Amino acid sequence: MSDPVLALTGIEKTYNKGKPNAVPVLRGASISIARGEVVALVAPSGAGKSTLLHIAGLLDSPDAGQVRIAGQEATQLSDRRRTAIRRNQVGFVYQFHHLLPEFSALENITLPQQANGIARREAETHARDLLARVGVADRADHRPAALSGGEQQRVAFCRALANQPSLLLADEPTGNLDPGTADTVFAALMELVQTTGLSALIATHNPELAARMDRTVRLENGLLV
Ligand code: ADP
Repeated sequence: MSDPVLALTGIEKTYNKGKPNAVPVLRGASISIARGEVVALVAPSGAGKSTLLHIAGLLDSPDAGQVRIAGQEATQLSDRRRTAIRRNQVGFVYQFHHLLPEFSALENITLPQQANGIARREAETHARDLLARVGVADRADHRPAALSGGEQQRVAFCRALANQPSLLLADEPTGNLDPGTADTVFAALMELVQTTGLSALIATHNPELAARMDRTVRLENGLLV
């Protein structure tokens, strides 16, 4: 058996720890996600989904517990090595697209690859392939402001996959879209994830979207159940 792509063990996190306004959010959360597995993360607003995703993606550190990505324990590493793992192994998608407004859709997907040392032509070929796979090949030269909300999110999915991560972390990726658009954009995301063989942890409020994933975990009282 290969290592899980993501293994969180006993993750604890309290904001403002030790102060009167301390906010305990995670109290020993654990989860293991196998290669190619797509897991829905369901919880009420404020339960700590974003905190958990940030810790899983090495954007934030837990107070206690382990984060293993593709077999490597990351919490004890230097910032530099954590950043390298994040860049190479993890793709993020948020509720809002966070594309760079002054660059085209294509450039938004090529720039992170070039930052990772990929030559421009190769990066463009890969970016065009990704755009075609989510049905927006003809929008490659548009800036984000000239795209619809659904198109912006499709481009954001491509950017998240630009550096061929092994893990996708998504925080309400279709939460800003109207229900009809959310449905088709989510289908595009699932298609992209499944054909790439990625593992994913996708936070959603929507039970219908959660039902389309391999399994669902709930964040309750700081634990994953
Ligand atoms: P969710 O994504 O499930 O809505 P979050 O992880 O954003 O939840 O937040 C969980 C709890 O932690 C909330 O009560 C929130 O107010 C609190 N919180 C989040 N970030 C901070 C922070 N930087 N400082 C203090 N409290 C925070």
